[in-house]
Amino acid sequence: MALIVEKFGGTSVATVDRIKAVADIVIAARKQGHQVVVVLSAMAGETDRLIELAGQVAKNPDSRELDVLLSTGEQVTIALLSMVLQEHDYPAVSYTGGQVHILTDNVHNKARIIDIEAVRVKKDLADNKIVVIAGFQGIDENGNITTLGRGGTDTTAVAMAVALNADECRIYTDVDGVYTADPRIVPGARRMDKIAYEEMLELASLGAKVLQIRSVEFANKYKVPLRVLSSFEEGPGTLITDEDEEMERALIAGIAHNLDEAKLTLRGVPDRPGIAGAILNPIAEADIEVDMIVQNVGVDHLTDFTFTVHRNDFGKARALLEKTARKLDAKEVLADDRIVKISVVGVGMRSHAGIASKMFSALAGEGINIQMISTSEIKISVVVDEKYLELGVRTLHSAFGLEGDDNIIDDAAG
Ligand code: ADP
Ligand code: ASP
Ligand code: MG
Repeated sequence: MALIVEKFGGTSVATVDRIKAVADIVIAARKQGHQVVVVLSAMAGETDRLIELAGQVAKNPDSRELDVLLSTGEQVTIALLSMVLQEHDYPAVSYTGGQVHILTDNVHNKARIIDIEAVRVKKDLADNKIVVIAGFQGIDENGNITTLGRGGTDTTAVAMAVALNADECRIYTDVDGVYTADPRIVPGARRMDKIAYEEMLELASLGAKVLQIRSVEFANKYKVPLRVLSSFEEGPGTLITDEDEEMERALIAGIAHNLDEAKLTLRGVPDRPGIAGAILNPIAEADIEVDMIVQNVGVDHLTDFTFTVHRNDFGKARALLEKTARKLDAKEVLADDRIVKISVVGVGMRSHAGIASKMFSALAGEGINIQMISTSEIKISVVVDEKYLELGVRTLHSAFGLEGDDNIIDDAAG
């Protein structure tokens, strides 16, 4: 007998029929003798609908009240699934995040889980119940409802698996695993049987929305075996696990893209010590995260300074930068929110040179101009015009031979 946490995302619970199909998957695990804890998202589109509703009544909805509103979506699906399971004569009980003490910090809309008091869930499991928990939500120490950021149900599921010391955490979604690129963008993308935590962390942080980054961080930290599967068809899915020899042979694991960023440039600022701080401090003080940063080589004591922020922060960051521009007597502020960041990720990069040049030539071959570049040990990212999203990702996918086996490092050559 194993203890399994099963998470189902929005499309997997989008309708009553889909919820019934989820019940069948849960019951199948029970029939195999497992204890099951289910973590659910809201029905597909519901969280967006609630955000839109809030937007109809307030220009900048209060973040605490927004969390009260957003947490309702998951409350609907957990109750419905419990009812379906009970109709099949399985004892099921649903809980909101607060009811099972998913304690978070108090940063509304992007709270982090601090602790889970699993006593109640453990007792229910001992009583042979199926426990159904609302994803994406918790409470802070003052009892306020919080939410964990978009995609946060993945994180609830993994955190629950850690708290219960579960044997496996299964993330059921609308694709049958983790692919070498978003299969919606690259039809020829390939499902991976396994991927290393480290590579999955990079892919998730670089935009692959199949798993929320925090969930992979938890899984890696506590070594929870994590599997991504389809709730629509049976299959082995993708196991996210520690790196092994087989994986090391793959040069590039996959390609991620991120459409959520926007680019700001301060042109013609005095090129002197302290300038980067002077530009970025007001941005940091406004709690805006900066991702990529490029400062050009100075010419005639002037330089250009470019950075990217989340598109949600674009307007605010631009206004702050315009203020800084006046203060520093810079030439102008350039702003562009029609960009995409495309990244190639793979642990094979550690031991193999030439990946960057291959990436840049492939993009150049299609006439795609690179606006920014950033690299780290196992990834290379470029920013290009948003219109090149599909062409860029597909070009790199085939340049690195990700459809076939060419991506395997040739021992003789390598
Ligand atoms: P859920 O509602 O189940 O949480 P999401 O929409 O959050 O589902 O995540 C699944 C989606 O992630 C897929 O439909 C796919 O378009 C997208 N995706 C992006 N990158 C990848 C990737 N590398 N492998 C698989 N899916 C990916
Ligand atoms: N319902 C939330 C969202 O749409 C959380 C989740 O589905 O993971 O982001
Ligand atoms: Mg998701």
